[in-house]
Amino acid sequence: MIYELIPNELHKELNDFLNDLERIASQHVEFCPFCDKKEFYLIRSKPTTTYRCKACYKYFTAATNTPFNRLTPFNWLETIFVSRIKNYSYQAIANIFDCSTEKIMRRDHAIINYLKLHYLSLYKWYINKQQTTLNPILIEQHNYIKSKINTLLNTQTPPCLHCNSTETVKIGKRTCYWCKRCRHSFNLLSNTKLNRLPKSELWLSFIDLLIDGQDNTQIEKKLKLTNNTVRRWRAVWREMMINWNCEALSIWCKGH
Ligand SMILES: [Zn+2]
Ligand SMILES: [Zn+2]
Repeated sequence: MIYELIPNELHKELNDFLNDLERIASQHVEFCPFCDKKEFYLIRSKPTTTYRCKACYKYFTAATNTPFNRLTPFNWLETIFVSRIKNYSYQAIANIFDCSTEKIMRRDHAIINYLKLHYLSLYKWYINKQQTTLNPILIEQHNYIKSKINTLLNTQTPPCLHCNSTETVKIGKRTCYWCKRCRHSFNLLSNTKLNRLPKSELWLSFIDLLIDGQDNTQIEKKLKLTNNTVRRWRAVWREMMINWNCEALSIWCKGH
């Protein structure tokens, strides 16, 4: 099945990776991920099988210390991986599991991270495939980023970052709010690099130009920004794309 879609020289890595996924899905562990010792107690089997090492006393699951940590149910991973190889869109995969697109993207991002750590050739192929042949994926990620920015900049009553109440009002600057319930203020962009990025009215146009493949000089002229600013914005946005699980798009925006 998927072996036919993947170059022969990658079959060994593919096979090993699928075995890893199977082991994680069956939640079987052979050694402690912290100290490599092979003796441990079974602490509980639901919702996630959890063990405790007899030597270092640490708790762990089959996914501890991997990018798949907490991304249950683990048996989704193989289906997501295989579907992506078959060019399914995130939306189509989300429909299979009846969940949000975001959940699928987070898991695909973990798959990419895992491949990068353990199976470099397969990683490169998987990423490039997304970049060159999966245009629909890039379009999907482009739309996703745009809607993310729109929501960030235009939401009226976002849930409070302290108490989750939606009785919030906008105060002062673009993404600062005040919570009527817990009386704290918060900024939707704190902890992100966007917080220090000025001229938010240009963000969407900037993203469009990046994805259109324009180089820094072209963008500089069109948006009347300095060369340094364009360079910094490109780096910040590429990082945000990765944070928002749009790794393929981030690679695309590296510049051509
Ligand atoms: Zn241990
Ligand atoms: Zn609050």
